[in-house]
Amino acid sequence: MTVAAVIVAGGSGLRAGGEKPKQYQLIGGRPVIWWTCKAFLDHPGVSHVQPVIGEGHEDMFSAAIDGLEMPLPVIGGSTRQDSCRIGVEAVERHGPTKILIHDAARPFVSSDLISHVIAWLERYPAVIPGMPVAETLKFAPGGIVSRTVDRASIWTAQTPQGFIYDKILGAHRKAQIEATANLTDDASVAEHAGIAISMIPGRHENKKLTTAEDIEIADRDMMGRQLENLPDIRVGQGIDIHPFDEGDAVILCGVAIPYSARLKGHSDADAAMHALTDAILGTIGEGDIGTHFPPSDPQWKGAPSRIFLAKAVELLEARRGLIANADITILAEAPKISPHVTAMKDVLSPLLHLAPERIAIKATTMEKLGAIGRKEGIMAFATVTVRLP
Ligand code: MG
Repeated sequence: MTVAAVIVAGGSGLRAGGEKPKQYQLIGGRPVIWWTCKAFLDHPGVSHVQPVIGEGHEDMFSAAIDGLEMPLPVIGGSTRQDSCRIGVEAVERHGPTKILIHDAARPFVSSDLISHVIAWLERYPAVIPGMPVAETLKFAPGGIVSRTVDRASIWTAQTPQGFIYDKILGAHRKAQIEATANLTDDASVAEHAGIAISMIPGRHENKKLTTAEDIEIADRDMMGRQLENLPDIRVGQGIDIHPFDEGDAVILCGVAIPYSARLKGHSDADAAMHALTDAILGTIGEGDIGTHFPPSDPQWKGAPSRIFLAKAVELLEARRGLIANADITILAEAPKISPHVTAMKDVLSPLLHLAPERIAIKATTMEKLGAIGRKEGIMAFATVTVRLP
């Protein structure tokens, strides 16, 4: 018995605002789709996870699923229905007996709900989770109430929607041949083909993230869920300094800031990222950057410091830890740091798997005192809090 799961992520999700489609926005420090894919990858009853993504989203997707072992995505069609059919067809080669089709924008799907849908497919060819409607329904064309709708037996449909594989494949092909477009979920496709569909209780938390507010709430919620089981709180500190040398830009927190000098060092001399890396390593007693990337090793010459930072985060996450906040202070007489803080957070946030609001980047001059005050170099301090099991 094999169960395939298709994750539908084709939409542009513009209602949620932001620069990226909602399925690629960060909640709890990871893209929405990362959590969704992980839920299915981790489920012991699911054997294949097939993402369906939008055209042109290939790079965004491969960056988003960082660290997950995922098959290549397929590119969806112009409607949700098309995208689902493409996903259903894509798993045919695995010979699944059952298939689950799930919205990428529902990252809070529980393992327990996935199990229930799979189990109910023993009794019905199609199973969908949903919530009985609790609020009073009004039929109000043009904004004027014409009547109250009887809400008894009215449910809202969630995903994952489960199907016996051959049945839904046939139903999708039938809908395609008959050019029945814009069926908004797979159950509608099944319904159109006359397949019996069972409704089972969904979960309130299994909400589809649609608006910017949904993303904000989900961000706090996802972080809270992770922190809940990580009682070991640790603080780490890092300090670094690099002198100026001839050049035209300094790199700090991965951002090149135009200046009349560069920072001198073996790597790209990103003092802020080095301090941050050491702070993270400090929380787990893993030495410092030099322990893992000896300056004597020529392969790190000119290396981008994000490699060092990614390694520290990897060591932390290997212990099932996560960063709860990072606070960086840069000491520099020049150049001016503040115009670059947003760009710096955009670099650090995906590397740290941490929301930008949990990252602080501050800068101060030395009031012309000492070596930094004489514009001989730049110094950085970092403090991080991490949480471990
Ligand atoms: Mg350094």
